[in-house]
Amino acid sequence: MSLDNKPVYSGGCQCGAVRFRIEGALGTASVCHCRMCQKASGNFYAALVSVRDARLAWTRGAPRRFRSSSHAWRGFCEACGTPLTFEAPEGLALAIGAFDDPSVVPPTIQWGIEAKLPYVDAIPALPGEATMADVGSAPYLATLVSYQHPDYDTEQWPLEKGSKK
Ligand SMILES: [Zn+2]
Ligand SMILES: [Zn+2]
Repeated sequence: MSLDNKPVYSGGCQCGAVRFRIEGALGTASVCHCRMCQKASGNFYAALVSVRDARLAWTRGAPRRFRSSSHAWRGFCEACGTPLTFEAPEGLALAIGAFDDPSVVPPTIQWGIEAKLPYVDAIPALPGEATMADVGSAPYLATLVSYQHPDYDTEQWPLEKGSKK
């Protein structure tokens, strides 16, 4: 919460070159199965939340944009490729997975269900394992050092030179 009791959200791309901050109530959160959202997110569907009347500020860097149709642009980090925005005439939406805490932005509706992939609804029923359960077949996991930006704002990033390839 900010000083005047408005909710505050932050987030950004995986590498940390682009960071955002939102002050105020967010609009509708949704997933979209349409083919354009699949491509733009490189995923089964895009999870997006409308910024609507909240105040959005890019606090580090800014997305690069691809004009995906005559009416819409898709914003992403040009350094690491993280999808960040969907920008259409009715406003801007942010990728929920890019939030520092995506758990507080639950989707309430699905769009584009004509293009929904046939296996998407079966995913929650698949067998599940924690990341480290696979350490036997992927021993590098035991010594892995993350170069991903942490889920909070930083004064300086990357912290030390040489941590980026
Ligand atoms: Zn990035
Ligand atoms: Zn879509």
